[in-house]
Amino acid sequence: MDEGAKKTEEQWRQSLTPEQFHVLREHGTERPGTSPLNQEKRDGTFYCRGCGAPLFSSETKFESGTGWPSFFAPLDRAIDTTVDRSHFMTRTEVNCARCGGHLGHVFPDGPAPTGQRYCMNGVALNFEPAPPAKD
Ligand SMILES: [Zn+2]
Repeated sequence: MDEGAKKTEEQWRQSLTPEQFHVLREHGTERPGTSPLNQEKRDGTFYCRGCGAPLFSSETKFESGTGWPSFFAPLDRAIDTTVDRSHFMTRTEVNCARCGGHLGHVFPDGPAPTGQRYCMNGVALNFEPAPPAKD
């Protein structure tokens, strides 16, 4: 984690909406199918809502059918993972490597080439479309 991205709980509450705060800082999960990013198909980059760090490229996004934006690989060193034993399950939690914000979970049932499915909360992400290609 980056010390510069650290904030107090009060600072996080002021910089995030209640739903963003619940997911990023309280390990919450958005209701499936609620994120507009499920339908996002443009080229671009997905950034952390907490600190603005780039996390995923649209090139690794795929339609998982779960109702959550899903990716088969994160950007280099963008995320950290920890074992989450809540809700009577053992899952691998995905956090932003920079601010530590909770993003979602990763499951070993994704498509090639990685076989990983990064199941993300859209509310924890911010999408920026790539500028149109010039030629
Ligand atoms: Zn972050």
